[in-house]
Amino acid sequence: MSIQTETQAKPLEEAVFQNSFVDELKGEASMNKNPRQVPGYHFSRVTPTAVNAPKLLAWSEELGQYLGLVRPPEQGPAVEMLAGNRVAESMKPFAARYGGHQFGNWAGQLGDGRAMSLGELTAVDGSVWEVQLKGAGPTPYSRRADGRAVLRSSIREFLCSEAMYHLGVPTTRALSLVATGDQVVRDMFYDGNARPEPGAIVARVAPTFVRFGNFQILLATGEMDNLRALADYVIRHQYPELGEPSPAVYVRWFEEICRRTAVMIAHWQSVGFVHGVMNTDNMSILGLTIDYGPYGWLEPYDLDWTPNTTDFGGRRYAFGQQPRVALWNLMQLGQAISPLVEDVQLLNPALDVYIKTLEGTRHSIMLAKLGLTSQNPEEDKALIEALEPALAESEIDMTIFFRRLSHTGPELLTNPNNEEAKLREFLQLAAYSMAPAEEAELMQWLKRYLQRLRQESASPKAIKESMLRANPKYVLRNYLAQQAIEAAETGDLSLLNRLMQVLKTPFDEQPEHEELAAKRPDWAREKPGSATLSCSS
Ligand code: AMP
Ligand code: MG
Repeated sequence: MSIQTETQAKPLEEAVFQNSFVDELKGEASMNKNPRQVPGYHFSRVTPTAVNAPKLLAWSEELGQYLGLVRPPEQGPAVEMLAGNRVAESMKPFAARYGGHQFGNWAGQLGDGRAMSLGELTAVDGSVWEVQLKGAGPTPYSRRADGRAVLRSSIREFLCSEAMYHLGVPTTRALSLVATGDQVVRDMFYDGNARPEPGAIVARVAPTFVRFGNFQILLATGEMDNLRALADYVIRHQYPELGEPSPAVYVRWFEEICRRTAVMIAHWQSVGFVHGVMNTDNMSILGLTIDYGPYGWLEPYDLDWTPNTTDFGGRRYAFGQQPRVALWNLMQLGQAISPLVEDVQLLNPALDVYIKTLEGTRHSIMLAKLGLTSQNPEEDKALIEALEPALAESEIDMTIFFRRLSHTGPELLTNPNNEEAKLREFLQLAAYSMAPAEEAELMQWLKRYLQRLRQESASPKAIKESMLRANPKYVLRNYLAQQAIEAAETGDLSLLNRLMQVLKTPFDEQPEHEELAAKRPDWAREKPGSATLSCSS
């Protein structure tokens, strides 16, 4: 950050907000918070409901600087704003109206039931970012819920969105985490054991929070003018390179959404991220990871794994299903915007763009993870395809496997002595459990891989360096997030702060934080909050 931008940084309470969503789209201005259907509108104007004792728990330093903001003190006017107790004159807070398919079924109107956007800030590079509070009180879309969020889910959203950003995964960001000083009652596992928990509010940031579901609800209620207006708004502000909206531009726009969604999914699959609730209302129109709920990170590489207990029956949103589900969701979006194009068939090629982009992006990410440059695409494809079943059959930690391979692979090029023993040791270090037949399959794959690696012209040292930049050492392991939460609930923020710090440079060795890169300890295997989560948040 240059000195110039630092001197320009100002306190949040002095920042001036723009309000393009409110100014350009159709809003209901009654300020009535009673839950209800809101046909005819894109959003409802709302005001946050004040909380008792707001206190800043975490602040994302780089994002703050980028938005031209100074870090606020623990309490004071900026934190009052981040808690919804104070609304700046330039803000026009709103809750967006959207619908969605939940677990494959059309759920009708959902909308921002506890999120509200405050307005937009201009970053130091001139780009425009919407700031949204999550947990700031009821809106017309709260249905039977309270509009609040608990500390545990807020910590999870705050930590993970920033961790994903630093891994290079397209995502919404998180600026602040504020404790409200109020209690929120939740039945964490929907088992009749409701209890009060500390409340919190995350301020999250994205160019826009528009989802697939914002379009779906407008088709469902037959609001064609509103549908077009929303598409034009998103295109003009977020996809200006496509040109002035027209039927042809809507087609290219859908194709670009498909492309971006494919890139996002390819990244999820490459780091072992499981979103957990890929309902169409949780799909960003920008191809960003959005709405961090019962998500999780793969420990053993397991295509069937999901942490979301609500999904244990069908495993619709399990790790291996994510690519297919995103395509299904894109088809629903295509339906929703089809009245904007002359012939709905024109939208079909975009779905192929999704499939091809996903394949191509996954392939190039895997090549990078394995330290390979493209030589013989067919052969490389076969090598990569053989890895997945071999990993899936045994219980191998995905993150550790690739990270250690970045060391072991290139080192064996330099010094091939005891290859067999070194490979076995490598597998033992990454495995939770591994039957002899599974080990044999992996050994076979590793030898085939080493042969291929020897065909690379780069030096082993250069290969190793490139692999270390493609395979993170640190991810937000499920049990670490849970430990940070349990400590924070007793007032100890040290692990939260440490994770924030370490996850900023997930590809660096950071030997002093080695234990945060360790295998999941055995006690965390089935632990609620680590291995299993629900939508209760
Ligand atoms: P989610 O499963 O978090 O994506 O939320 C689905 C829908 O439920 C969205 O419309 C949310 O705004 C709404 N929602 C979730 N939790 C709450 C809450 N505590 N209060 C009000 N609305 C909520
Ligand atoms: Mg949601």
